[in-house]
Amino acid sequence: KKFEDYSLSEEIRRALTVLKYENPTEVQTEVIPKALKNQDLVVKSQTGSGKTASFAIPICEMMEWEEKKPQTLILTPTRELAVQVRDDITNIGRFKRIKAMAVYGKEPFSKQKEELKQKTHVVVGTPGRTIDHIERGTLELDKINYLIIDEADEMLNMGFIDEVEAIIKELPENRVTMVFSATLPKDVENLCHKYMKDPIHIEI
Ligand code: AMP
Repeated sequence: KKFEDYSLSEEIRRALTVLKYENPTEVQTEVIPKALKNQDLVVKSQTGSGKTASFAIPICEMMEWEEKKPQTLILTPTRELAVQVRDDITNIGRFKRIKAMAVYGKEPFSKQKEELKQKTHVVVGTPGRTIDHIERGTLELDKINYLIIDEADEMLNMGFIDEVEAIIKELPENRVTMVFSATLPKDVENLCHKYMKDPIHIEI
């Protein structure tokens, strides 16, 4: 498989060339074509497999540049991962001028609030701060059509289940949901069963 096999725009292909991503990794081969068809996905794969780009590439491809409000919400268990994912999206979406931002605790709320007033395509957040922004009306969710839960097992291990469910309940029902997890314990399976539409399971 080659990146040319997928229907990716010139802007995204150019970014992959700059990043020296020559061939898709295994998880990318499985995820990219299905994500481009807007299918709900549960993906069991480890960090280091190229899983971030497996969702970042189709997400960047599918964002509508003109839309001012966020179209994708990505939840991560930690601030470090949120920043990493934000940077990967920014790199892959650079020639399409995709704006991604990270929201997490330990950074002033007001700074994030101001940034959220600007055009933002993708918001990457930790659960607690994401809820703060939703409750205070600084993160609008009515245009979110993609939800990604990254490192879902870690998220639930850290006790974020209530926060994650509270966020999901605020999202438009008509959306695509992708869950990435290194392991699939019962609580992750339950979450998927509760909030996803006939997801395809991918195991790497
Ligand atoms: P991840 O599993 O998302 O943490 O990615 C692991 C590393 O692989 C990161 O440093 C990525 O930049 C890199 N990477 C992701 N996809 C590719 C690819 N198709 N070709 C080469 N490197 C890649």
